[in-house]
Amino acid sequence: MKSRQAVLVEPRRFEIRETDIGPADNEVLVRMQGCGMCTSEFPEWLGMHPAYPMAPGHEGWGVVEDKGKGVSERISIGDRVTGLGQHCYSDYFTQSEDYTMVVDQHVEQECLLGEPFYCVHNVVRAAHPVVGDSLALVGMGPMGQWALQGLASRTLQHVIAVDVDETKLAFARDAGATHTVNSAKEDPVDAVLEITGGRMADVVVEGTGIKAGMDTAVRLLRRSNPKLVVMSFFKAPIEVDMTRLCGVAAEIIVAHPGIRKDRVDGCRRTEVLINNAVFRADHLVSHRFRLEDIQGAFETFENRPPDYIKGVVVP
Ligand SMILES: [Zn+2]
Repeated sequence: MKSRQAVLVEPRRFEIRETDIGPADNEVLVRMQGCGMCTSEFPEWLGMHPAYPMAPGHEGWGVVEDKGKGVSERISIGDRVTGLGQHCYSDYFTQSEDYTMVVDQHVEQECLLGEPFYCVHNVVRAAHPVVGDSLALVGMGPMGQWALQGLASRTLQHVIAVDVDETKLAFARDAGATHTVNSAKEDPVDAVLEITGGRMADVVVEGTGIKAGMDTAVRLLRRSNPKLVVMSFFKAPIEVDMTRLCGVAAEIIVAHPGIRKDRVDGCRRTEVLINNAVFRADHLVSHRFRLEDIQGAFETFENRPPDYIKGVVVP
């Protein structure tokens, strides 16, 4: 079958090429309905990839059009699926059954971003606050929002979202944050001191990827045996206040996507969260681009207009 595919032929230049595509054994062929644009693709766009041309796109979802030999009855032609994809900025892409999540019909969400949901399911598993805990999330970008969606619970005393953007804080309240703190307007440490009556947070999820955010996260930890979950991917070394972390005997978990060895089991667990309508992304998609405009999509991504939250590419 012929398919258009977006190929990054050199840094900052996409071309739409035609490819032949079909499912190999144990793969499904998916008609793309959308694919999320990911910060991790930014280095590829800028030229930090070993070789070009390359075909990015790993946050795809769509409808199963064909099954290769060996694909089980779990997946039927016509199913809506997502998963851990590759080369998904295409009319059609293939995906191993092992990394394919099947979305129930009753799930009303349009944007089914399997790969980032999978990444965040790792964060949810790593953070697992216990009854009565105060949870704080620093950085309410898409990953922070999904972590909140996965973690907010009436079993917790406080669920505190920290960001500088009022829109993201409003989304956080909708997703179950009991308190929001705009750290551009008030000192988050003072705010969390007051919210928690001086206890501070039992569990803090850091989701900014910058030193200022990590500093805030460290300062929000309670005084004995708190848990710090590092969700961000840091592109450069930063200094962290180890005196403070040692002083409070913090447990530090780097929950970056690679944390789990068993990705097949991780996909199964992520599928549960998608089908139980825990993860929701439609309201976070601020920018949509057609496949033929992928060049403009990445230029917009690079220039990040102030209202940018999450971009997706659609056919
Ligand atoms: Zn991604």
